[in-house]
Amino acid sequence: MKKVVKFGGSSLANAEQVRKVTDIIRSDESRRFVVPSAPGKRFDKDTKVTDLLYRCYDQAGKKEEQTEFLNTLAEIRSRYADIIEGMGAELSLEDDFETIRINFEAQIGRDYAASRGEYLNGKVVAACLGFPFVDAAEVIRFAEDGTFLPEETQALMEQKLSGMDSAVVPGFYGADAGGKVHTFSRGGSDVTGSLVAKGIRADLYENWTDVPGFLVADPRIVDDPEVIETITYRELRELSYMGATVLHEDAIFPIRKDGIPINIRDTNDPSAPGTVIVESTCRKPRYTITGIAGKRGFCSINIEKSMMNAEIGFGRKVLQVFEDNGVSFEHIPSGIDTMTVYVHQSEFEDKEQQILAGIHRAVQPDFVEMESSLALIAVVGRGMKSTRGTAGRIFSALAHAKVNVKMIDQGSSELNIIIGVSDNDFETAVRAIYDIFVMTEA
Ligand code: ASP
Repeated sequence: MKKVVKFGGSSLANAEQVRKVTDIIRSDESRRFVVPSAPGKRFDKDTKVTDLLYRCYDQAGKKEEQTEFLNTLAEIRSRYADIIEGMGAELSLEDDFETIRINFEAQIGRDYAASRGEYLNGKVVAACLGFPFVDAAEVIRFAEDGTFLPEETQALMEQKLSGMDSAVVPGFYGADAGGKVHTFSRGGSDVTGSLVAKGIRADLYENWTDVPGFLVADPRIVDDPEVIETITYRELRELSYMGATVLHEDAIFPIRKDGIPINIRDTNDPSAPGTVIVESTCRKPRYTITGIAGKRGFCSINIEKSMMNAEIGFGRKVLQVFEDNGVSFEHIPSGIDTMTVYVHQSEFEDKEQQILAGIHRAVQPDFVEMESSLALIAVVGRGMKSTRGTAGRIFSALAHAKVNVKMIDQGSSELNIIIGVSDNDFETAVRAIYDIFVMTEA
């Protein structure tokens, strides 16, 4: 059994957290390939090392901010010194910090700057564990324009890691063939974890973070929501798209095809099983639904025209107007003589008048009506397919909670039901749906 274990920034924020991490790794012999993030926040108002690095690099580039630059660099250095001292590790980062100072002054790249958080933390974690350190620049390949190169990466990973029985590979970055460092987008250490798991053909990718797992609903809306035990990649996609984020979106693609499950775990509660993300499963979800997620800030454009149903190409012409204005649509529920387009308010607002004029020109509607401040809620679950009455339960719960439903969309996969409500009803609706499934089925 081989496991890749990735630890997020808050799991490595100080010596106390790093101690938990080394204990977790040592408690299971199969945890031998480790991917650390940079030290994150130690408390609410704290700054992540990655953000300090961006700031420090920008200061290094401005003549009048040299003092600030050196102060920020000292602040970063002390974050690592505290961990090294607290862990009693045998390691000096003096030479590394000298190189970093010179490279920052030479302004060799913002990605390089940001990547140093993981690079240094990789060295620290490797020293604490007595594992070899492998610079991600050697095993993760980008093109010169910063595009990630999966095949080259896989070849390098296999070449480097196949003969090793343990290693620490820092998250978040890699390099192009010329050695220039590039990073993934923020939170990208999750992606590195997936790539290492694929590279060594791991049996499991454990992603250790500061939450108990994927939650059935947003804890800012529902008090102490249940943890999802098992979720499929497709369900996860649906929920993440609607705002439930625990894992970087790009972390799924490298290992999905290889059938390597991801287990989200809590560093602060290591005995809890967390959430397992799998390609498919015959395990029934604990409740009929797997999760609920939602987003505010949508608006709807309702277009009416009598005999619309007979006009071939009507929908295409309307959507073309949105496309021409660079606005993507979310849903298009329709009636015989009506068609409604749901869009993100923030994308739509500036283009509103052009789009309205475009629709009038393209399809000569009888009537166009808009409504803003709408929220969309996705109720997601593989269990809905085989269960009668799910929609009935959702809508009677919403009716009891006095929520007016403005839109309903169930995909033919029966994996999700999307419900549009007014922004004001958003939280009430999420709570009502949670209660009807989780509280009554528990
Ligand atoms: N340290 C990087 C960030 O803050 C990457 C990561 O933590 O995954 O975004």
